[in-house]
Amino acid sequence: MNIPFDPNERRRYRMSELKEIIQRKFHVALVDGFLAPADVDVRADHQRHPIASFINVYEAWKVDQWNKPFFSWLTETVPTDIGQDDVVFVFPMATGYGVGYPEPSGWFDLSVNGNPAVRFRETKYTDVWRMGECALCFDVMRCDCATDGHGLEVDPWISGARMVGYGVALLKVPRGMVHPGRSAKIDIEAGHYFASHTWARIDRVFEEGRRNEANLARLVWAPGLDRLLSGSKPVETPQGRVFFGDIHAHSFCGLQSPCGEWRRQAEETCYGCELEGKGDGCGWATVSSNYLYARDVANLDFFTLSEHDFQMPGNLWARRVEIANRYTEPDRFVTLNGYEYTSWLYGHRNVYFLGDDPPMFPASPNQGRYAADPQTPPEKLWEFLEESREDFFTVPHHPTAADHPFCWDRFNGIYDRTVEIFSGWGSSESVEGPLIGDGANKYAHLCLRAALKRGLRFGFVSGSDSHDGCPGNAQGTSIYNWANKFSKVGSGRTAVICDQLTRRDVFSAIKSRSCYATTGARIGISFSINGRPMGATLEAKGLREIQASIRAPARIRVVELIKNGVPLFRESCEGSSEEISYSDERASDCDSYYLKVVLQDMETAWSSPIFVERKT
Ligand SMILES: [Zn+2]
Ligand SMILES: [Zn+2]
Repeated sequence: MNIPFDPNERRRYRMSELKEIIQRKFHVALVDGFLAPADVDVRADHQRHPIASFINVYEAWKVDQWNKPFFSWLTETVPTDIGQDDVVFVFPMATGYGVGYPEPSGWFDLSVNGNPAVRFRETKYTDVWRMGECALCFDVMRCDCATDGHGLEVDPWISGARMVGYGVALLKVPRGMVHPGRSAKIDIEAGHYFASHTWARIDRVFEEGRRNEANLARLVWAPGLDRLLSGSKPVETPQGRVFFGDIHAHSFCGLQSPCGEWRRQAEETCYGCELEGKGDGCGWATVSSNYLYARDVANLDFFTLSEHDFQMPGNLWARRVEIANRYTEPDRFVTLNGYEYTSWLYGHRNVYFLGDDPPMFPASPNQGRYAADPQTPPEKLWEFLEESREDFFTVPHHPTAADHPFCWDRFNGIYDRTVEIFSGWGSSESVEGPLIGDGANKYAHLCLRAALKRGLRFGFVSGSDSHDGCPGNAQGTSIYNWANKFSKVGSGRTAVICDQLTRRDVFSAIKSRSCYATTGARIGISFSINGRPMGATLEAKGLREIQASIRAPARIRVVELIKNGVPLFRESCEGSSEEISYSDERASDCDSYYLKVVLQDMETAWSSPIFVERKT
């Protein structure tokens, strides 16, 4: 899309010309998305200039998940000549966190003329949410992140915040939702399981009484329109397409209750639980609500609701499998069947299956409460799964956590194909750095760098271990509630490198360690040694030629190469993409190498290691 100049006339397009071109080419009618607040009761925080944004804002209405949850406004008149074309409303928007410490996350619902359109969330980076025929692109033009421990001070209204993203919203709705010749009424409503100061703000870029298609004339909306109208595009790297998901989450459905009061609250906020024996899981929200949040709000490409074994007696595992299978939709949203083998004695391991009717083998044979004896060792788990002839792999998690330490002496790389390096529990890479989380109570000798130093071989994955009903976006601290205890540092994501988004491709990528871990950002990494990709084991004589290529959604701060658990090479960066070449000649019998990428906003990614054996 070549705007704003007409190449023939060598002058700026008139707005009427632009609208006509867009409508002819894409069959959508562009409409200025903000005219005035609707003449109804609003519960929004009304703010006046000066207001921080990427553009001059005169007035704004902010809704939050605490006590200002609702705002309603009118758009410019929808033209009468739109035929059957869709309508795209354009308006400036901002989202952010209201305080400096992590709070529970939630969502925002947008409706047009009373019809639900999309559900979205706060974001640092540009994203697109789709629901039915509706879609919202929030094209982030400026993002401020507090990275030094102090909150942001950006205007009289935003003080002490952790993150604010300002940008252009483009909301696409079908013809049937609007009335040509009239304004549309748009509502935004905050939703959550746990109240927080997370907010979304609708901005007005013109003074009251003065306007001339202000939003369309002043905002750069073309890139957002491109994103909105093209299908979702995966991140591309030289080694292939990358999809991002969360394979570690818990709902509240189950049988054994750890907390009666909590269960009562959960049932009150539940939108109809389809499982028998509802309540009593130690996560939050129903099974379906978790899938819907993962798919529609967190925008995950793949997801596993990995419930604890001891909370799924009777037919509850079979019912979970049925629901997981139902949500799988290749090319859009893929689910893996899996559960958490929750052994208090040997450590926690998630089990993942390729099949759609897998068995479940619990850590405690009588499926009693957590921390009950007897406990079945992982060797028995693997034996059982081998006999079942299912294709599976296992993933140890939070190995360093003092209350659930992982026994590395029982690690088996044949089955334990990857290890979770990051989740809401914090980073398990080492016990230093800013990503420690609420699980700061850690055993240093159980961290992943120590395991690599020992010569153990595994790939990396990352997840949320969400207990708050917001997989892929779990946040908060234990100052709020138990459900947010596991997400002080946010939600990690597993990146898989594969051609297609199918259950088989995602499963095989993780099992073959063609995967890596991030703290949530969609960072594209390709990493190879002597031409072999991440996760590989290779033999080498002489030099190891190390190549990496990184594509990030924000500026990269530093890239580190870690050999056998110890930093070997470090490069400071400037832009959002980086190419690295490095050769290493010092060889022991077997060396592991992985890449760590840290962005300016502290989002981090870890490639799976490559293992190099010395060829004699
Ligand atoms: Zn666990
Ligand atoms: Zn878990």
